[in-house]
Amino acid sequence: MATVKDFRNEVRPNWCPGCGDFSVQAAIQRALANIGKEPEQVAVISGIGCSGRISGYIHSYGFHGIHGRALPIAQGVKLANRDLTVIASGGDGDGFGIGLNHFMHAVRRNMDITYIVMDNQIYGLTKGQTSPTSAHGFKNKTTPEGNIEHALTPSQVALGAGISFLAQGFSTDINQLTRLIEEAINHKGFSLVNVFSPCVTFNKINTYDWFKEHIVNLDNDESYDPSNRTAAMTKVIETNGLCTGLIYKEDRVAYEDLIPGYKPEALVNQDISLDRDLFEQCL
Ligand code: SF4
Ligand code: MG
Repeated sequence: MATVKDFRNEVRPNWCPGCGDFSVQAAIQRALANIGKEPEQVAVISGIGCSGRISGYIHSYGFHGIHGRALPIAQGVKLANRDLTVIASGGDGDGFGIGLNHFMHAVRRNMDITYIVMDNQIYGLTKGQTSPTSAHGFKNKTTPEGNIEHALTPSQVALGAGISFLAQGFSTDINQLTRLIEEAINHKGFSLVNVFSPCVTFNKINTYDWFKEHIVNLDNDESYDPSNRTAAMTKVIETNGLCTGLIYKEDRVAYEDLIPGYKPEALVNQDISLDRDLFEQCL
């Protein structure tokens, strides 16, 4: 059985020392080993950004795609080989800026893939511009007088689009993050793990200390019910999206199990009327 070491390769990450993305990489590798995956059973598909390099740092199948397009590529990979564990990854600019439309449609489509976003509330690779998740009033070189736009809150967008699994983590809590990624991969449907992953070089506002001060950890709230969509939406509004843990989960049939393919047993169980001729042709 594969261990964490089997998911490591010879490539040394060129992230800045202290970047939150190191923890995300380690958590993914630990999670894959913990749930008994082998490297050849996994494909990591990434977009563009510092975080997009992650597909080259994990020993598995991988594809470093183009800006904002990790999710279309990942969905194509999953449809081509449904036996693969498919992980899409990228940053807040990649996924919630240029890739936002793909994100919302992937959410409602509910294909069985896991999307891991390293959200540092800035564009890091291009040296620190205001991103879609930068707060109103955020000051940096592109908004020296303060960001006049309001931030997009990924958790609210995900719930609004009808996500079936939503979790958030923080780079300093690698044990929680590993567990959330395991649960996300095991979830049968689209899962988002949005990770607060500080950019220590360009974001001097949303630092590790800032996140520690503002994050509400749902693991500490025994009364919280992640099966209640209304409670989940209330929580992400109350916390301005700054909550970690399992936020929402529901069982729903995955997209690829609703169309003819090479898994007939999935269709037989769903009481779906089929064009038998078409179905046979697809076997
Ligand atoms: Fe990480 Fe920021 Fe450095 Fe990019 S610029 S590697 S996001 S710390
Ligand atoms: Mg970013």
